[in-house]
Amino acid sequence: MRGSTVSNNEIFPEDLLHPKQIIKTFESPAMPVGHPAEPDLFARHLGIPGHDQAALEAARILMAGAGGLNSWAALALARSGARSIVITDDDLIDRTNLSRQFYFAGDLGERKGLRLAHNISAQAVGKASVTGIALPFEQAVKEFALPADILIVGVDNNACRLQCVQEARKRGIPAVFTMLSRDGMRCQCFLQGPLPSDPCLWCALPNLDPENIAPCASAIITSCFLASAFTIFFVHRALMGWPEGVKSFNWREADLLGVVPDSKGLIVRRADCAVCRQ
Ligand SMILES: [Zn+2]
Repeated sequence: MRGSTVSNNEIFPEDLLHPKQIIKTFESPAMPVGHPAEPDLFARHLGIPGHDQAALEAARILMAGAGGLNSWAALALARSGARSIVITDDDLIDRTNLSRQFYFAGDLGERKGLRLAHNISAQAVGKASVTGIALPFEQAVKEFALPADILIVGVDNNACRLQCVQEARKRGIPAVFTMLSRDGMRCQCFLQGPLPSDPCLWCALPNLDPENIAPCASAIITSCFLASAFTIFFVHRALMGWPEGVKSFNWREADLLGVVPDSKGLIVRRADCAVCRQ
């Protein structure tokens, strides 16, 4: 540094010269058409009970969080033919994320929302548009028009979950919430329906403290995979309906250790719910 003044061109803050990008859309091309006799890309989905590929391809999917939960949910969506995905997360990628989130060495220090959108777009095998936003969910939906048919919530704090409950209610769309226990072994998944008469996340878990921020103390990729399978199953049911003859449910819980029995159930709306009774 020359002289005593600190206001010179050499140390002028780089952020002011090049404001950080907060939104970016990545377009994935359609796969080249093969021989007409070749099966369709998604031909193996056809026999899956209740599956409706067109409903998945038409859905505008909004994701809150780009960590261990939504990394794999987003990858599953892109691989299986979702065409419109928006991901919001302003967290920075650090070394501990790489063991279980869809990032690479070159992503370190970057914003998760933008990098997950970039990394996922390379996984889309159908024609897809993947947008990343480097803002917290609440701010992203305020600053950008983000039309959505479903909301997928894979965050680690109840304040954001509450915002998502309310945003989904306001829009009249379903939302899927996925959570891991503090020891990283158990996952819980809840499908909030689109109607005011449907139970909300707080009907299912009335003791959730909206002020609580509880990042996973421990986390490992096995439970992230388990959780994302349940998440995408509920996304499919919300978009496609239930297979004929199958009784619907909106709650699922599983424990990798097998200590707590796996369970599923149909949560009903609670008349005294502090969140959705208004
Ligand atoms: Zn409620």
